[in-house]
Amino acid sequence: MESSTVVTHDWAAEVERLNGITDAVDLLTEVFRTFGKRAAIGTSGQLSGVTLVDLAYRTGLPFRAFAVDTLRLHPSTYKLWDDLQKRYGFELEIFRPDPEHVDKMVRQHGEYLFFDSQSKQEYCCEVRKVRPNDRALASLDVWITGLRRDQSSARKTTPRCTMVEEGGRSILKVAPLVEWSEEDVWNYIREFDVPYDAMFDPLPNGARYPSLGCIICTTPILPHEPLRAGRWRWFNAKGDDAKECGIHVR
Ligand code: SF4
Repeated sequence: MESSTVVTHDWAAEVERLNGITDAVDLLTEVFRTFGKRAAIGTSGQLSGVTLVDLAYRTGLPFRAFAVDTLRLHPSTYKLWDDLQKRYGFELEIFRPDPEHVDKMVRQHGEYLFFDSQSKQEYCCEVRKVRPNDRALASLDVWITGLRRDQSSARKTTPRCTMVEEGGRSILKVAPLVEWSEEDVWNYIREFDVPYDAMFDPLPNGARYPSLGCIICTTPILPHEPLRAGRWRWFNAKGDDAKECGIHVR
């Protein structure tokens, strides 16, 4: 990922200033104006992510976005990445797992280690998602995410802007859609005809995908289920909707 000159900021003042900007386009405009190429949107093609890309385009400023390819994603995710780049005329920067790390993990625990235990699921996510994401963040001062408070119990206190420790240093994490609901996101996508993954459309039996990750680890949810219930469904007996891959909650 291309980086540019590191500039010193008064981070506490930046967090306070940016937390006061509630409109998503205004916040993105201010972030891109202040941090330029040291800021980027991290998106894997979720509904919030494509919304963020459209909002970033509306700022009229150049913007960067990156995605992590775990090498286990649905074919429709790769198509969406192509569609987004064609529509908005930017290059989505792709980060993949280190082949040696994947090889070591598979030799030790097998291809489907995530079924065995939560710790092995987290190890797989660490190798396939978290480490590539950390490489993406290495050239950034600002990480823009599509996190929303309505997504799970673990995310309900997500701040709009906060400093986080990544790779042994602090970076600013910005969530412009933090107060949006899932319905707000759908309304935006429909109103502005934003490209999205067709797998998010409801299935004939009423089930749907509220988010999409790796094949096998992501399943649709039924109307009565929490939004994270489709992730690593075999762990749901714990009654916990706070399951995370480790990128946002470590
Ligand atoms: S979602 Fe599943 S396959 Fe993908 S990285 Fe995590 S455990 Fe591995």
